[in-house]
Amino acid sequence: MSSRVDETKLVFVTGGVLSGIGKGVTTASIAKLFQFRGYSVRIVKIDPYLNIDPGTLNPIEHGEVFVTDQTWTFRPVDDFQFNISEIDLDFGTYERFTGMNAHPSQNITSGQIYTSVILGERKGDFLGRTVQIIPHVTDQIKKRIWDNVTKDSIPDVLLVEIGGTVGDMEAMPFLEAVRQLIREIGRDRVVLVHVTLVPFLSSVGEFKTKPTQHSVRELQSLGLQPDVVICRAEKELPEAAEGKIALFCNVPEECVISNPDISVIYQLPLSFEKQDLGDILVRHLGMEEREPQKEEWESIVESFQRMSEEVTIAMPGKYTMLTDSYKSINEALAHAGAVCGCRVEIKWIETEDRCDEECLTEDLGNVDGVLLTPGFGERGVEGMISAATVAIENKIPFLGICYGAQLGTVAFARKVMEWKGAHTTEVDQDSLYPVVDMMDEQKVTEDKGGTMRLGGHEVRIVEGTHLNRLYNEAVVRERFRHRYHLIERYISKMGRQSLVASAYDATGKIINAIEIENHPFWIGVQYHPEFKSRPDRPHPLYLGLIKAARDYKTRRGSQIEP
Ligand code: GLN
Repeated sequence: MSSRVDETKLVFVTGGVLSGIGKGVTTASIAKLFQFRGYSVRIVKIDPYLNIDPGTLNPIEHGEVFVTDQTWTFRPVDDFQFNISEIDLDFGTYERFTGMNAHPSQNITSGQIYTSVILGERKGDFLGRTVQIIPHVTDQIKKRIWDNVTKDSIPDVLLVEIGGTVGDMEAMPFLEAVRQLIREIGRDRVVLVHVTLVPFLSSVGEFKTKPTQHSVRELQSLGLQPDVVICRAEKELPEAAEGKIALFCNVPEECVISNPDISVIYQLPLSFEKQDLGDILVRHLGMEEREPQKEEWESIVESFQRMSEEVTIAMPGKYTMLTDSYKSINEALAHAGAVCGCRVEIKWIETEDRCDEECLTEDLGNVDGVLLTPGFGERGVEGMISAATVAIENKIPFLGICYGAQLGTVAFARKVMEWKGAHTTEVDQDSLYPVVDMMDEQKVTEDKGGTMRLGGHEVRIVEGTHLNRLYNEAVVRERFRHRYHLIERYISKMGRQSLVASAYDATGKIINAIEIENHPFWIGVQYHPEFKSRPDRPHPLYLGLIKAARDYKTRRGSQIEP
C-alpha cells in the first residue's frame, strides 16, 4: 500500500470507435494485473452524462443500476446534499474482479461536477471571475479524481475509466482535465490506455485498423498520446495488423494488445498477462517488477470452463432484450452455476407478450427454475405474477428479487388466498388487498432521484426458515433499492397457507424476505443478493436456487422417462 499521495500511479482508460466494447471489463482486468502483483488499486469511473447518478435511468439506457453497500452524502456545497448509492453497472464488474466494495464517490458524473461548480458560484466561490469549463470545471474534475486517491487508504494505483467514446462532446472537459493532470504530475506516473474496436471484414478477410487510427488521432489532437492500445476484435490480431496500429498510433508494437472474444469474461486478465501487459504497465510506471500470483484466479476461471451439467432458469420480466439490464443477476447465476459444475442457460420471457397463466405454464414447462426480476411500474407485471403462480402450483424452484418478491406475494394472495384483485399499490392504488404498499418514510418524498431506501442494511433472519438454512447465519447485510414493501397484516394471514416472513430489517418492521414452507424452494427477497455475489464466492441464495433447480431437473427427468 502506498503511503504517500505523490507516489500513487494513475492509469487512465479511454475508449474509441464505439461504445459497448467492454471498457469496464478491460479496466477491471488491468486492475487485476496490479493485484496479481500485490499492488493495491482503486477504480474511478467517469460518466459524462448530466444525471447526478444513474438511479433514475431506465436500464435500456445504460444497463442495470448498480447499488453499493455504502451510501454517500454528496455535498456540492455545504448546505446542499444528495444521497448516492446507485452507480454505474461497471462497478459491478469492478467489484466482481477486484473483490473490493466500491464507494459511490468513485463514480463521477458531469451532473455532479457541474452542480458543484454552479452552486459554488452562487455561494461566491469564484467572486469576480467568469466561471468557465477551463479552468473551473476541469479543476473540479481533478479535485474529484484526487479525492479518490486520498480517501481512506492511499492506493498504489488509481485507475480512471472515462465513459463514452473519445470525440463525444460531453467527455471533452474530462479529457482536458486528464491532459492537465498528466502535465502537473509528470508523464512517468501515468499510463494512458486506449480501448478500440478492430472490425474484421469477412468479404476481404482482413482486420481493419483505420477506425483505431482515427480514434487515436482524435485523442492525440486533444494532447493525449496513448501508451497502450487494447484492440477488441473477434480473434487475436495478426502481427501485421498490430504492426500497423503500432506505427500509425505511435506506440511500441508490444503495447498493442489483443482483446479477443472469450467464453468466460474472467479470463481476460489472464489473456492480458499472456501478452505481458502486467509487466509492461509496471515497468512503464517505474514500479517494482513482481511475479504475478495468478493461481487462485486461474482456478476460478477453470471452474467456469469445467461445467458438465446444465440448468435452465427462466427470467420473466421486461427489458429482457438487453441482457445488461440484469447484469449482476446473470453473473450471480453464473457464479453459483460454476461452483455446482452447472452451466446456467437463461430463458428470457418478455412478459408484456406472455402474460396469462396458460402462456406461462407453457413457457415454464421446460425450465428448471424461475428468477423473477426486479423492476418498477406496470408494464409486464401480469405476466410476472402469472410466472410466480405457475412456480407455486408446479413446485418449480423460484427466487423473487425485490419487485419479483413483491409480485410473487401478489400471486400467492390472488391464487392461494383467493384475494381477488390483490396487488401492489405501485400498480393499483385502489386494490382491495394492497399486499404491497409504499413505505411510510417514502410517502413524504416527492423527488425521484436518490430517495428510495438504498444501500446496505442489516437483515435479521427468522430461525428455522429455509432462508436461515441457506445462510447458516442469523444476521446478514444486504443491499436494497425500493420504495414499496410487503405489508405485515396481510403476510401474517398468509401464514395459514404456509407463506411466511423469513427475514426482517433491524427494526423488525420491514419484511425483508418471504418463503413458502411446503414448497421445495420458493423464496422472495426484498433486497438484491446479486450485488454481493463474486466469482469465487457465490451468494447462498443463488447457490440455493441452482441446487434446487438441479434437483428439480432430475425429478422432472425421471417423470418424463417411461
Ligand atoms: N418497484 C419496487 C419498489 O420500489 C421494486 C424495486 C426493485 O425491484 N428494485 O419497491
